[in-house]
Amino acid sequence: MLCLLCQQDYHCDFSLPHFLARQPDRADLLCPDCLAAFSLLTGPVCAGCGRSFAKGPFCADCCYWQRKGAPNLQHRALYHYNEQMKVYMAAYKFQGDYRLALVFRKELTAFVRRLKRHYQANLVLPIPVSPTRYQQRGFHQVAGLLAPGLRQQGLVVAQEPLQPQSALTRAARLASAQPFAIAENWQPHLKGQRILLVDDVYTTGRTLQHAAACVLAAGAQAVFSCSLAR
Ligand SMILES: [Zn+2]
Ligand SMILES: [Zn+2]
Repeated sequence: MLCLLCQQDYHCDFSLPHFLARQPDRADLLCPDCLAAFSLLTGPVCAGCGRSFAKGPFCADCCYWQRKGAPNLQHRALYHYNEQMKVYMAAYKFQGDYRLALVFRKELTAFVRRLKRHYQANLVLPIPVSPTRYQQRGFHQVAGLLAPGLRQQGLVVAQEPLQPQSALTRAARLASAQPFAIAENWQPHLKGQRILLVDDVYTTGRTLQHAAACVLAAGAQAVFSCSLAR
């Protein structure tokens, strides 16, 4: 089989009838070398943003957010945003290979469901994609990483960013204006709810803080967040 990330031809250990009878999984898409290069985020983490951190409850970035009065989203991520995850995100998001969503869908779905129980959240909202980006790509990059039952589109991108977030400097991202709005007819569904936001990658926390501010302004009681990587 050809690995979708490194294009290496690799041996996959099953018979064709077996392969046809089951749901494809990550071993059908990526070679063992590529799979082994992802790094799970384990060990002590910051209580605010979920980065590896053992020197206290909150890292310096989270102390900055707290001084600005931002809510503590108790963010948790599954993987480190290492070189391999960058390669994966580039192929998935920027080259738009939707098959790659399957590499993490099962695992991220289980992670989100676990956190949903842990935070006693009643609603999961993936970070939305802008209409322009949706047209270019043909899929919702974050929702695609989740099982269909977790793809509620309660948030929309109201303001089209001039440049993709990935093209901005850290300072520009931190200063960017609120890009999100509540989707039509969704306002009543958010009132008094505990919401778990899901993103693909946590970089500065700005995107999730914007989304959190948006749902809190709509009457949500509490908001938490998680991502595939950070
Ligand atoms: Zn590979
Ligand atoms: Zn932190």
